[in-house]
Amino acid sequence: MPTLDEARRMIFARARTLGTESVELIESLNLVTAEDIIAPWDMPLCDNSAMDGYAVRTADCTPEARLRIAGTITAGAFSDIPVEPGCAIKIMTGAPIPSGADAVVPFESADADGEYVAFKSPVGYHEHVRLAGSDLRRNENVIPMGTVIRAPEISMMASFSMSRVTVFRRPRVAILSTGDELVEVGQPVAPGKVVDSNGISLAAMVKECGAIVQMLGIARDTVASHIEKMTIGLQADLFITSAGVSVGERDLVKQVLTGLGVSLEFHSVDVRPGGPTTFGVKGRCLVFCLPGNPVASMIIFAELVKPAIFKAMGYRRVLQPAVRAILQENASKRPGRTKLLRVRLKYNGDKLLAYSSGEQTTGMLKTLLRADGLAVLPAERSSISAGEEVEVHVLSNNVLMHQEAI
Ligand code: AMP
Ligand code: MG
Repeated sequence: MPTLDEARRMIFARARTLGTESVELIESLNLVTAEDIIAPWDMPLCDNSAMDGYAVRTADCTPEARLRIAGTITAGAFSDIPVEPGCAIKIMTGAPIPSGADAVVPFESADADGEYVAFKSPVGYHEHVRLAGSDLRRNENVIPMGTVIRAPEISMMASFSMSRVTVFRRPRVAILSTGDELVEVGQPVAPGKVVDSNGISLAAMVKECGAIVQMLGIARDTVASHIEKMTIGLQADLFITSAGVSVGERDLVKQVLTGLGVSLEFHSVDVRPGGPTTFGVKGRCLVFCLPGNPVASMIIFAELVKPAIFKAMGYRRVLQPAVRAILQENASKRPGRTKLLRVRLKYNGDKLLAYSSGEQTTGMLKTLLRADGLAVLPAERSSISAGEEVEVHVLSNNVLMHQEAI
């Protein structure tokens, strides 16, 4: 039985990027560049003013000097009138520095009096001038292939007037729930029935990754129903099923997948919750069979499926950040298997503290709602004491941004 790390390595060995496509710039957010973005010109393109003020020759700016205001250059305008000795030209932020000038004096440092202007303090060479090429040079590889596109990358490409970019294609992820006990969300729930919450929670997690969701609904506990839905699922880039993989179940999921040509690479992972997780491959489709328990399926999604999706999207860093935090209560566990404890994180000064987010049995969904991360309690330990440092896998990128009192 692989450990969580070993399972990840087996999955990564199979996860590949999926070819490339050209998308509108705004659609590229959180995707990964599949081309080098080369600066087509210097940035800034020409020397320009960093302030609203006067373009001057520094040599003219003695304490006694009064310079004649010879004209104005507004933003967007270009003037080929040089600044003659003894003159200044009014200039707006971003406007090109006229020839002859070598500095800009901001309005607030100048005393203008009708046609003439004097300056309160000495003026330095190139002061308040943004020099051509000071941000970057033409032909610089400013966004190498393999970069995750965020707002600053979009800003840079937009400033090159690019309206499209080539990125690694988003994977299509098919999601299938299995079980005769399931009813669709929105339907009445008779005794003994369970609402299919996994379908939509896994879809939400896939969407959060930026991948494309394909909902296949529910496969009933018959071979025919499984074959029908799974045949469609195996056309996707990733195929996720939930339930039907626990010990003692009829195990239709694995039986049918194997029959459809999926080669199963592991049948369980040395972790709790989520132990019965199964992983297989058919062609380029990665198949994840998650446990039915909603908490277990979401935890295994976060630990194993999400990194695989990011890998397929071309991300280099595919794991959520791991932080070290001080556990605030004793935790016991069975030795021999890694346990993922749902915890809240809270800073106390510069120390990060981890509190159990509630009752830790797998059935407790509320405990996951309250969790910021999963504390990793090592396999060999039978207990961890309050005050010990633990590794915590942060569940979502924004958990550390909204800290509340516990
Ligand atoms: P497992 O033994 O891992 O298959 O988990 C079984 C538990 O998960 C049972 O309580 C099932 O009712 C529940 N379960 C299975 N599938 C789903 C689903 N699609 N949505 C919500 N709960 C489910
Ligand atoms: Mg079941």
